Amino acid sequence: MTEALYLEASDRREFEATVERVAGDRVVLDRTCFYPTGGGQPHDTGALVAGGDRWSVVEVEKKDTIYHTLDGEPPATGTAVAGELDWERRHAHMRYHTAQHLLSALLLEEYGAETTGNQLYADRSRIDCAHDRFGEADLADVEARLNELVDAALPVDWYVMDREAAEAELDPERTRLDLLPASITEVRIVEIGDYDRTACAGTHVASTEEIGEVTVTGRETKGANEERLTFTLEGT
Ligand SMILES: [Zn+2]
Repeated sequence: MTEALYLEASDRREFEATVERVAGDRVVLDRTCFYPTGGGQPHDTGALVAGGDRWSVVEVEKKDTIYHTLDGEPPATGTAVAGELDWERRHAHMRYHTAQHLLSALLLEEYGAETTGNQLYADRSRIDCAHDRFGEADLADVEARLNELVDAALPVDWYVMDREAAEAELDPERTRLDLLPASITEVRIVEIGDYDRTACAGTHVASTEEIGEVTVTGRETKGANEERLTFTLEGT
């Protein structure tokens, strides 16, 4: 199983690894900083380098382990490689992902609206929640409140917790631990100041001030009691 360096050191953008397996145009490494698509967050891109050779990492997927799809004939099993992330893309994902946590917490806290889905990109994000309908004033309030939370520079921390302890201690509406397969015995908790605590395996910034100014760009109805909100972040 590949060691997922991005879980601990989400701010790391370079690493060294060894090719453990080649499968067509994909490689499995012993360790990686490349985030695989999951939880509404797209995969990282970047490069693997060995000697004078360089491959672009065009897709990263997690199945039984993490697979990196390369743009050419992959290096052989046993090759030592250096990995480099496209940091601009990853950092944007971290900012959008952390903003999504704040927004999910805010929607639950202030509207009783539980998040039902989310998808983020490097330049925009959307979130679906169980709510009848947001008005213009609601959108302005959500935006203002989000920016207060950003300006408060709340620390973002993550750690691994035993599932049983997490189930006993954490708010089930936020953590949704019941959705995880029974085989998962440890959960990764992401905490934003004392405002939010949820189970998540994505990558996040270390302080909410890194998110930058939030603009709520719109809303649409996705069905009965289901609203979608869209937002963008400064400089993306
Ligand atoms: Zn997250």
